[in-house]
Amino acid sequence: MELKQPNSMGECVYYTDRDVGNGGSVRAWVLKENCPKCGKALMGKPRNPKTGKPKLRSEEYQCPECGYTVPKQEYEETLTVNIQYTCPHCKHQDQTTTPFKRKKVQRLNEETQKKQSIDAITFTCSKCNQELFITKKMK
Ligand SMILES: [Zn+2]
Ligand SMILES: [Zn+2]
Repeated sequence: MELKQPNSMGECVYYTDRDVGNGGSVRAWVLKENCPKCGKALMGKPRNPKTGKPKLRSEEYQCPECGYTVPKQEYEETLTVNIQYTCPHCKHQDQTTTPFKRKKVQRLNEETQKKQSIDAITFTCSKCNQELFITKKMK
């Protein structure tokens, strides 16, 4: 299986390249997909009609051709995350895809040493079957 690589950040709804500790790393990206209604253009954030700039904080995606609009979460859940990883548990390197859906996972916050519930995309290492997480960046 060959993953579809993005040509530019503009083609991605989501992109991350990070070190996950213990020698593991994850690079993951989600490519924009064509409008499900007209199929003529990539769905994107609606643009401000005055400035022409995308409204990045918008909770919706819109087709620039036909104006079809979908709520952000509903649209994102139809997309696929492409993942290249080095497993932090067994050092296996592989690639996989998973639906772009976040779920709550329990994780130890290294600063406070308390467990916290955070949103993450999860996938399983093809070799050791450990579940791996791509968490939202903590700020
Ligand atoms: Zn359209
Ligand atoms: Zn593994």
